[in-house]
Amino acid sequence: MSVSMLLRLAWRQSLIRLLLFYALAVGIGLALDELWWGLGIATALLAARAYWRLYRVLRFLDWRKQLRTVDGQGLWAALETLIHRRQTENRTRSRRLVRLLRAYRQAATAMPDGALVISRRDGRLVWFNKTARHLVGLRYPQSLTEPLVDFFPNQPRVRDWLAAAHTDEPLTDLASPVDPLVRISLRLIPYSSTQWLVVVRDVTKLMRLEQVRRDFVANVSHELRTPLTVVHGYLDMIEPEEHPDLAVMVEEMRRQSQRMTQLVEDLLTLSRLEAQEHLPEEPLAMAPMLVTLRREAEALSQGRHQIVVEDLAGCDLTGSTKELHSAFSNLVSNAVRYTPTDGRIVIRFDRTADSGARLAVQDSGYGIPAQHLPRITERFYRVSTSRSRESGGTGLGLSIVKHVLSLHQGRLEIESEVGKGSTFACVFGPARVRARQAVVA
Ligand code: ADP
Repeated sequence: MSVSMLLRLAWRQSLIRLLLFYALAVGIGLALDELWWGLGIATALLAARAYWRLYRVLRFLDWRKQLRTVDGQGLWAALETLIHRRQTENRTRSRRLVRLLRAYRQAATAMPDGALVISRRDGRLVWFNKTARHLVGLRYPQSLTEPLVDFFPNQPRVRDWLAAAHTDEPLTDLASPVDPLVRISLRLIPYSSTQWLVVVRDVTKLMRLEQVRRDFVANVSHELRTPLTVVHGYLDMIEPEEHPDLAVMVEEMRRQSQRMTQLVEDLLTLSRLEAQEHLPEEPLAMAPMLVTLRREAEALSQGRHQIVVEDLAGCDLTGSTKELHSAFSNLVSNAVRYTPTDGRIVIRFDRTADSGARLAVQDSGYGIPAQHLPRITERFYRVSTSRSRESGGTGLGLSIVKHVLSLHQGRLEIESEVGKGSTFACVFGPARVRARQAVVA
């Protein structure tokens, strides 16, 4: 029966019953010649019954019990029927929700990856699954409400990573607190405004494979070094003037062996950078660095470009002098190599809005089509292979730059427009900036 029909019927029944009741009271009152007493007692009985029904309804609502029996007809019965209906609906809905929640929890618990829920405010654990328990060494329920970083006491990387809330970059190759031989990765997923989901994965096999690949490349490069030095040495001994017929051939052989040497050196540099977790924290004086970069640019350009150096930052950096020099000179060398004669190259060192610093190399060269930009820092990725080879490129320069910057918690920003030129900027956070020392004359 619909609600409106039920109510209509209830009103009608209640009114008829009320009329009959009072008619009876009036009849008895008149018969006993006590009309007012009759009406008074009838009203008192009605009020008592109303209070009793109200008490019954309130008691059920208060006890969160379900009204099981609906007594009689009329308005009170209609009220109980409606409450009973709502209660039944709510029960069914909450049962369905509990079933759904249980199914989700079971799925999350059975996941092969570890999953943890932590509070965004203080990083304390709210929930974790079985795999997370094994990988991070948590205990249920003792570990709940403990901060996640407390389980990684010797790995400050976790604290920094959580504080920086790096949702786009997973934290890879961490030693599991349970067993340092097990390598894990953490990924932060913002799934609610108050909590993070942290996905923990066992990447031991992946890291082992990666290590095998790294060792292989490093070993091959290393093995190639000696034969190349020998070939190079013998080629240097051949004087083209003494063998004019071999001059062109010897020149080409020298060029190619030089290219191979450069390739091997770049591969070894990359392997070395990949194997490192930290670099020396030395003060890097930027004024002499900019002078060196200008000198290198001029030597490469051989007067074909206009080279401008702008030192606007008034600060120095902290990091590995050797590696940062190698990154900066790679960018300068690219700018010279990919800018036609009469182009302009600006090397600018300035500050960023967040008190960090930025070394930008801007050229007026060929530029890079936008579709290549996302992949440009991959090893051996070239926009134009012929142009890269002609200019002595190995295809590894930008990979090296990216690695060096990531070891300095910096990033490479690239802007480019075809036909107008490119800007490659190394951006460093405030922690890498140090006051410039006065130059002693
Ligand atoms: P390569 O040794 O080939 O220069 P890099 O890793 O340094 O290798 O650069 C990758 C590719 O990016 C280059 O082959 C080139 O196509 C493009 N590139 C790098 N720098 C510039 C630049 N300043 N202007 C235009 N293209 C560039």
